[in-house]
Amino acid sequence: EQPQRTPHIVIVPTPGMGHLIPLIEFAKRLVHHHHFTVTFIVPTDGPPSKAQTSVLDSLPKTISSLFLPPVNFDDLPDDAKIETRISLTVVRSLPSLRDALKTLVSTTRPVALVADLFGTDAFDVAKEFKLPPYIFFPSTATTLNLFFHLPELDQRYSCEYRDLQEPVELPGCLPIPGRELLDPVQDKKNEAYKWLLHHTKRYLLAEGVMVNSFMDLEPGPLKALRQDIPGRPPVYPVGPLIRTSSSDAGAAERPHCLKWLDDQPSGSVLFVSFGSGGTLSHEQLTELALGLEMSEQRFLWVVRSPSQKAANATYFSVHGLSDPFDFLPKGFLERTKGLGLVVSSWAPQTEILSHGSTGGFLTHCGWNSTLESVVYGVPLIAWPLYAEQKMNAFMLSEDLKVSLRAKVNEDGLVGRAEIATVVKGLMEGEEGKRIRSRMKDLKDAAARVLSEDGSSTKALFEVVNRWIN
Ligand code: UDP
Repeated sequence: EQPQRTPHIVIVPTPGMGHLIPLIEFAKRLVHHHHFTVTFIVPTDGPPSKAQTSVLDSLPKTISSLFLPPVNFDDLPDDAKIETRISLTVVRSLPSLRDALKTLVSTTRPVALVADLFGTDAFDVAKEFKLPPYIFFPSTATTLNLFFHLPELDQRYSCEYRDLQEPVELPGCLPIPGRELLDPVQDKKNEAYKWLLHHTKRYLLAEGVMVNSFMDLEPGPLKALRQDIPGRPPVYPVGPLIRTSSSDAGAAERPHCLKWLDDQPSGSVLFVSFGSGGTLSHEQLTELALGLEMSEQRFLWVVRSPSQKAANATYFSVHGLSDPFDFLPKGFLERTKGLGLVVSSWAPQTEILSHGSTGGFLTHCGWNSTLESVVYGVPLIAWPLYAEQKMNAFMLSEDLKVSLRAKVNEDGLVGRAEIATVVKGLMEGEEGKRIRSRMKDLKDAAARVLSEDGSSTKALFEVVNRWIN
């Protein structure tokens, strides 16, 4: 049988909605603007989640997906960190990935394999099939910059980064205190750090790295990354790629929270959400509820059951049990009725951020959430929890100045008074106005770079040309 002539791209996403969502948008661009076909080959450690299947099932026929058999983690210690789990999901899926590719090359014409930030082990299988390996980096250019320098930093410093007297300097980036660096570098003895180091060394094996950012957002780091450095793969800023109107909205009835937003005054509502994995402790959840109440501002809050276990407790399974909200402070729902709305687990975030009634976003600073806010011009309150979110919060508050940062007290909590202050500050204060206006400039820039001759459109062309020729 003659294999199809259409060039085909194989995408191997690592677990996490925050990785899958931008990769899907990337795939859509390849299909709609460049006439590729795409297959997602998805490594997992369990049955596909509802969030995963609903985004993958809504795709056009030119983008197919298949789930690899779940890997087994019975031997992993309970406290194994997320980066370890993600990396091992890929490593243990390599045999089934190989089988899947064998079938795929007999029916299509793959021209590249795209892995995401923790998927570099898939490169070994790509090699066997002579597929050039690429990385799609769903986070910031700043973090990518750090990744390229991590092997060298690891050699230079023997102490933990958070104990460094001086901030860490990276080309083109605002010097950043060691304690703000991403989670997996905060404990060098942990397996998660070793995995990260392993991946960052393997970044040099990639033939190119697409990063979900753009020039106006991170000019310094991107200029540094775009320089020709021998031995380093070229970097292509192709962002902001965000989830466009979710196609699952088409069929179903308009969700209640959007109808509720329709009835609120323009720009009056603070959206509160901690991404797909974010969970707060019971104590912190109480402070947040009472702080929102004290602020007397309108809010729409995506609430999950509290967890003492970890700040990313729902990362692998976003849909927990249905929450009856009985963990919220007594009387909170009644007292805030009319002013606030609480929804459980998962909400149509891009529809909320693009709604005219939304005037602010209290966010964990996940990079997709950040880009979505940029695209829709929604100013932020930064409340980072895990992964590289502190780095993002630092950049958004200190460098770009498009967010206020909620301050953590000596007890490791953001207190109710602090919450009320930042919320009022963003929604009503003078600084809030300045932040809003800067965010509006970024929104305009985001639209520009994705226009026909914008820098991100051109960068994607560069990659595509390499794949076709
Ligand atoms: N998201 C959503 N509804 C929710 C929570 C998250 O649609 O209730 C989407 C959000 O719009 C974003 C992604 O899930 O596209 C979360 O990615 P991000 O990088 O912000 O955070 P992560 O979940 O990876 O921590």
